Parts: sequence; C-alpha cells; structure tokens
Amino acid sequence: MKIFTKKSELKEFLSNQKADGKSIGFVPTMGALHQGHLSLIKRAKEKNDIGVVSIFVNPTQFDNKEDLDKYPKTFDNDVLLLESVNCDVLFFPSVEEIYAENITSEKFDFDGLEHQMEGKFRDGHFDGVGTIVKALFEIVEPDTAYFGRKDFQQLQIIHKLVEKHNIPVKIKGRPIFREEDGLAMSSRNVRLTKEHREAAPFIYKTLKKARKKFGAKSAKELTEWVEKKLKKHPLLELEYFTIADEQTLETATIIEPNKKYRAFIAVFAGDIRLIDNISLKRKH
Ligand code: AMP
Repeated sequence: MKIFTKKSELKEFLSNQKADGKSIGFVPTMGALHQGHLSLIKRAKEKNDIGVVSIFVNPTQFDNKEDLDKYPKTFDNDVLLLESVNCDVLFFPSVEEIYAENITSEKFDFDGLEHQMEGKFRDGHFDGVGTIVKALFEIVEPDTAYFGRKDFQQLQIIHKLVEKHNIPVKIKGRPIFREEDGLAMSSRNVRLTKEHREAAPFIYKTLKKARKKFGAKSAKELTEWVEKKLKKHPLLELEYFTIADEQTLETATIIEPNKKYRAFIAVFAGDIRLIDNISLKRKH
C-alpha cells in the first residue's frame, strides 16, 4: 500500500493511474478503523481498479473540543488492517496540509437536511463535513465514494453536496456493521467504560422493538414509547429519537404509503455520544 501525506504527490500518482484508464473508489475516514470501515474499502476494491482511503480527523466537524482531542488514534493498526484488505492507497494528511493557516468551514446550504437531528445538536458539524468531503473529492477525484448508513444523515448530505456543486462523483451508501451484541461499530466505542459498553446494545434492541411497533403505533406514540424506555435506563441518556422521512429527514407526523422512513437515535453513554438508525418498514 502506498501512503501519501502530501496532496500534490497523491494527485500526481492518481492522475497517472487515471491516464492508464484505472477507476478510483474512495473511502474517507477518521481512522481508528473497524470492520464497518473495512466493509466500505472491500466494496471500493471490488467495484474499482484502485481503492483509496483517507484518514483525517477533521477539526472543523467537531463542536466538542474534548471529543476531538480524545478521538482514538491507532495509525499503525489502521495500516495493518488496510493492508489486510489490499487497500492500494492511504492518504494521511496533516491539518496544515488540508487547511493551511485557516482552520474554518465553508458554509453550505443542504436544503434543510443540515438542520435536522445531528445538525440541531452538533453546531456547525455539517459545514465541517461538507468542507472536508468537498476538499477530499477535489484532491482524489474518485469515480465513486462509499459511505456507511451508520451516518445516514451525513450520507444524504453528501448526495446533496455533489448534486448542488456538480461534483462528478457517484455516492454509494452501504449497510451498518454491528458488534455481535448489536451495537453499531464506531471508533468511539473503545472509549466506553466497561459498564457503558455493556449497556450500549440496549440502543439497537430498542430500535428493533420500535421497528416492530411501527405501523401499529403512530410516529408520535412510538417516539414517546422510546423516550420512556430510555428515561428508565440508569446508564443511558437519550438526546433524541426521531422517525424521519429518508429523503427530507424531516420528522414524520403522518406516515405516507409511498415514502421511506427511518428511526434515528442519539444517546449518551457516560461522556460518549453514540448514534444509530434503522430502516422502518410498514407491515401493511
Ligand atoms: P468515520 O471514520 O467515523 O468518519 O467513518 C468513515 C466512514 O465509515 C463513514 O462513511 C461512516 O458512515 C462509515 N462507518 C462508520 N461506522 C460504520 C459502521 N458501523 N458500519 C458501516 N459504516 C460505518
């Protein structure tokens, strides 16, 4: 695997590959890689000639300094994992290489997607995400980029980003990878205390129960039911639970037959904020 830290060198290498007719599949990450990341990279490799991964903990998408400072960094292990799935290229730039002297976000209008859910609770988060993904797309110029549905709102925002800015990259959403007990894999999971780690699978269990009840209960009733369940839990604190239209991400009040819905949740397990979501299918 080739490792680049300078964008000019990466660009030169990739332009030679493109000149040889090779297609590029790209997976942007913040490192501390797990099987969820690797599934995206495997897919990028299956569908393209060259698989490119970036590892960059993007400061402008963090609204919480402690979360940024304590974000897990496991570079040597990441390299071993990437080599195990035959990743071709790793881009590992410094903050200066990406932002030079000016560590700020561009402001984006994602047609309201950015004001829902994570956007309400993480100030400026999606401006930071838009800034880094746009910058990385300009550097890598991939044919296709792969994103996990673990961050479903982010995935929809990236679709909007390429559409509104005419960026010629195909965006593919991929399934959520989970631990055996159902907890969605996340780089932050290693920061959970033992007791919070044991409590955390409750989040997905609750989402699955909510999915079962979807259709029999209204969206409002179901939301209240989840809120009550979480309130009773001694170790988990609910930030939000929302049933939303997959396209607009607006909270659903009336369920319409021709639309797709998804339940979204954010929970604090001690200091660690965990998010998850599940597709909702009506029974009738
Ligand atoms: P991150 O390193 O957290 O920025 O994530 C990089 C990419 O991996 C994003 O597209 C995430 O949605 C995706 N990802 C993170 N966790 C998972 C997971 N458990 N399953 C599938 N994709 C994931």
